[in-house]
Amino acid sequence: MGEFDLIRRFFQRPAAPGVEVGVGDDCAVLVPTPGARWLVSSDMLVEGRHFLSTVAPERLGHKALAVNLSDLAACGATPRGFTLALALPRVDEAWLAGFARGLWALADASGIPLIGGDTTQGPLNICITVFGEAPPGQVLLRSGARIGDEIWVSGRLGDARLALEVFRGTVALDGAGFDIVRAAMEYPTPRLALGQALRGIATAAIDISDGLLGDLGHILAASGVGAQLDVDALPRSSVLASQPMALQQECLLAGGDDYELVFTALAGAVLPDVGVPLTRIGVIEAEPGLRVVDAHGLSVEHGLRSFDHFAS
Ligand code: ADP
Ligand code: MG
Repeated sequence: MGEFDLIRRFFQRPAAPGVEVGVGDDCAVLVPTPGARWLVSSDMLVEGRHFLSTVAPERLGHKALAVNLSDLAACGATPRGFTLALALPRVDEAWLAGFARGLWALADASGIPLIGGDTTQGPLNICITVFGEAPPGQVLLRSGARIGDEIWVSGRLGDARLALEVFRGTVALDGAGFDIVRAAMEYPTPRLALGQALRGIATAAIDISDGLLGDLGHILAASGVGAQLDVDALPRSSVLASQPMALQQECLLAGGDDYELVFTALAGAVLPDVGVPLTRIGVIEAEPGLRVVDAHGLSVEHGLRSFDHFAS
């Protein structure tokens, strides 16, 4: 199968609403909603770095798009289209079929059409760029947190990191527990509906890809504020809750790959109910820095850092 047969077979579909020209020409042509702002984000997944070579291709197709949609969610955007740049070591039809199945399932569930891309031979590498829209003045940014705002997080944290520790051989779980945390790692849910529902309500937002400490730290830095964070309040699965406390805290605070939203809102603000649990985990303060405390307000020593590709 040649390059163009591959594209036609796995990645080309009839044009979607709002897409004047999709896959098949030199550029895609999108029809903007009058007055809306474009939001654009790219995320690359490299084998051995962002995923294990053993991951099922269907889950990889899902995750490659999910991590990108999570960035749109964090900004409160409505998805409009995405491009897919793929480097493949060889044409493996069974692998491509699985990858495309996972990709299309999430694309269809999220209402985002595939509008173009690039396909080349090389070490397995997946780069997706997503395009979204939001009304002017309602984009959720990292920079809007204000002193006294409450800090909230969606869903549960730490399971993806716990799964990684199982793969590394440092933690053992029973089969049922492993299935739960492995699904969190390989099959994250981008919080698109929540992000859109938080327009005009959240003062700042970010998605947790590198770990809560670091990602919340980005909000604090961009907003010029500090925070107190209650580690005991952090939402966790029963699987994680049955692990030693030091491991729980490591997974919750520095785990990453959670793809939940952490956001700030005025104290007492009415938050939207989109079927995703929301947990209040702290408060924004004037004093710079992030102070981690327990349920009694006592300072927690952790010595943890978020993930950084180039940190030594
Ligand atoms: P060009 O050489 O003009 O850059 P290509 O030959 O690379 O175009 O691609 C042909 C068409 O197929 C273009 O519309 C491109 O966007 C699309 N395309 C290529 N690879 C992919 C892919 N992996 N997924 C979706 N569309 C793709
Ligand atoms: Mg061209």
